Amino acid sequence: MKTQVGIVGAGPAGLVLSHLLHLSGIQSVVLEAHRRGYVEERVRAGVLEQGTADLLRDTGVGERMSRQGLRHHGIELQFGRSRHRIDFAELTGGKGVTVYAQHEVLKDLIQARLEAGGQILFEVEGVSVQELQGPKPQIRFRKDGNDQELECDFIGGCDGFHGICRPSIPEGALKIFEKAYPFAWLGILAEAPPSSQELIYAHHERGFALLSMRSATISRLYLQCAPEEDILSWEDARIWEELHRRFEVVEGRMLQKGITGMRSFVAEPMQYGRLFLAGDSAHIVPPTGAKGLNLAVADVRVLAAAIAEYYRSGSTELLDRYSERCLRRVWKVQRFSWWMTSMLHRFADDNPFDVRRQLAELDYVTSSRAASQTLAENYVGLPFE
Ligand SMILES: Cc1cc2nc3c(=O)[nH]c(=O)nc-3n(C[C@H](O)[C@H](O)[C@H](O)COP(=O)(O)OP(=O)(O)OC[C@H]3O[C@@H](n4cnc5c(N)ncnc54)[C@H](O)[C@@H]3O)c2cc1C
Repeated sequence: MKTQVGIVGAGPAGLVLSHLLHLSGIQSVVLEAHRRGYVEERVRAGVLEQGTADLLRDTGVGERMSRQGLRHHGIELQFGRSRHRIDFAELTGGKGVTVYAQHEVLKDLIQARLEAGGQILFEVEGVSVQELQGPKPQIRFRKDGNDQELECDFIGGCDGFHGICRPSIPEGALKIFEKAYPFAWLGILAEAPPSSQELIYAHHERGFALLSMRSATISRLYLQCAPEEDILSWEDARIWEELHRRFEVVEGRMLQKGITGMRSFVAEPMQYGRLFLAGDSAHIVPPTGAKGLNLAVADVRVLAAAIAEYYRSGSTELLDRYSERCLRRVWKVQRFSWWMTSMLHRFADDNPFDVRRQLAELDYVTSSRAASQTLAENYVGLPFE
């Protein structure tokens, strides 16, 4: 098999890349380890930056999002028993975010790619990437028991944090920057109308909590917990009790629950020969800033434009600058995600000084226009170059 761009992974990075390339008349094949149903139902992110939602709409895959997504023009910060609204629209000249689940975005992208004749091969096994420094890199894989080889001009390494693309780069070629946090999030999905119109980020003496939603009938709620916590020890009643302690919340049938670890991670550079890493394969942020999906889309926006320029003019200038351009945004988003995380969570070794400092920071963020604007500008998404 041959194609122009071989893409490993049908997550947000891989599917948006394939979609943008198609709009520039460039062929791609997407290889995905899981079955289609799994990809379309896996519950993950749900907050789309202004730029992410605009891109989906402008490229013809935002119709359902525009109809069903919830447009939010602010968030609430809760601390010291009171709530303070950060008004995004007022602070950023009318911008906001769209609450629309990641798996719904993926459904829309998969449908668009397949309707346009795009190739997405689900349930591939044993994927490996070869000849990355040569002019024709290859992807080997097994599909329906048959070994296959896909020859390409470029490979998009969009296979997430646990994929094979990043580990295929020889040791020493990448520099890794990493930070682990001493807590995790226990997240639930419940059949209950959201208890607030906007997201509430709560600083609480028992730990951080987030009240979020995926639609007008489904709530998404998170509690700070220990990273080694066993979800089996969290019966539904215990979760609701703990949530009620942190904010007023409407209960409903629990559809899903799980524990997510928190880390910050960056691999530099995001390119090795003709392999380009994008999204979680290159970087991870703690979810407090709601940035993982958005950063994946931001990467492939740069990559698709660079590949299109190569096919248009033969110039590799934009491809050569891919990593540097993405990393400027990645590090700013890392800073924001770390800052939100540090401001809102309880640390095991909290000393009273740190708690007072966090509360002073929250007071400052919600009482100074300059500070509120900084949060708002980052939350709705920094402008693109
Ligand atoms: C529980 C949870 C909650 C989250 N909440 C938020 C949030 O609120 N806001 C936010 O912005 N972000 C959130 N994130 C992060 C966000 O979901 C990710 O940043 C985003 O999915 C990254 O997209 P991606 O395409 O880079 O990687 P992924 O979505 O991980 O996609 C990678 C794809 O590659 C496939 N793959 C892996 N290995 C192989 C292989 N060897 N061969 C073929 N295919 C392979 C995987 O099956 C997967 O489909 C959350 C993540 C989790 C886990």
